[in-house]
Amino acid sequence: MAFLELQGLTKLYNNFPAVSDFNLKVDKGSFVSLLGPSGCGKTTTLQMIAGFTEPSSGSIFLNGKDLSNIPARKRGLGIVFQSYALFMHMTVAENVAFGLEMRKIDRGERENRVAEALELVHLSHLADRYPVAMSGGQRQRVALARALVIEPELLLLDEPLSNLDAKLREEMQLELRRIQQEAGVTTVMVTHDQSEAMALSDSVVVMENGKVRQEATPFDVYETPTSPFVSNFLGKSNNMQAELISKTPEGAIIECNGIRLESDPVLLPQGPVVIALRPERIEIASSATDIPGKVTERVFLGSQWLLKVETGLGELLVTRRNIGHQEAAPGDQVFLGWDRKHLRILPVEEKVSRT
Ligand code: ATP
Repeated sequence: MAFLELQGLTKLYNNFPAVSDFNLKVDKGSFVSLLGPSGCGKTTTLQMIAGFTEPSSGSIFLNGKDLSNIPARKRGLGIVFQSYALFMHMTVAENVAFGLEMRKIDRGERENRVAEALELVHLSHLADRYPVAMSGGQRQRVALARALVIEPELLLLDEPLSNLDAKLREEMQLELRRIQQEAGVTTVMVTHDQSEAMALSDSVVVMENGKVRQEATPFDVYETPTSPFVSNFLGKSNNMQAELISKTPEGAIIECNGIRLESDPVLLPQGPVVIALRPERIEIASSATDIPGKVTERVFLGSQWLLKVETGLGELLVTRRNIGHQEAAPGDQVFLGWDRKHLRILPVEEKVSRT
């Protein structure tokens, strides 16, 4: 059995399935993110693991123990909420010591463990400060130290970085990963931010309407999404309705808006499919054998340019690395090409209903 195992976990609110038949195995020490749009059931899943919400059916096992009849406070979990929920009338050290006091750990050990936890989050120098006099990033570190000081078997993070501004959030992503790895604590994080999930996790679980759509490493969910939903949710993707018209062991021919494209071999049956093509895989070529198009919009993003190009296939997003000169401008005629191995051929999305 895996260190954390969710089996058929389901939560119904008046017959409305907030989470349906959720299965997950998490190895000891690894970092898993639950990722998906608002309302897909991420928080409900986390709350069931924490013991704040009772599942309608299914089981949760942690380190071989069935958590069903163990109340939240006895599960021995470290939890960090979006709001951090610090005690404002207590110093940083007192905040961190709180969980140890509740567990009746004696003073000497308490002081050692608080000092260790503060060192882990690089806050030793602010032990006597009150949270009100701290920045968002510092408060976030206090919340982490407070969760980790009890040496939890499992760390649960609910949108832990969403209150930070963009630059600090990126910094804290790296910090959070370092702290999690140094502490070696198995972690489940809820986020709707795909770049955060990819930056931090060993494994990403993409959810939609209470169900798991795909679980894989960040690289694999990005590079080999199994559905148009997942390819669209992680990064940008040009998704196009098409028809798989012929296939051989060497490759396939797909028709999209009357234009024939080649792809690598495909396992799907002939018929309607969706083509997914990442904007960064598209080259701007000069050869007239490629797909002609006209640039309609151009946005400068610093490290790259984002172009919208009107083509016979439809409007395509194209990203180009900024190498220090101007990119094609609106109104310019361009030719687009790509290596056929970059075309992902996916099944047409079935509507994922809440059942
Ligand atoms: P967000 O990113 O917006 O927090 P989420 O993915 O965490 O969303 P949940 O909060 O788990 O989603 O909610 C899943 C679904 O269950 C939503 O449709 C929500 O409205 C519903 N829901 C959550 N809690 C309750 C409740 N106590 N009573 C009824 N419905 C609920």
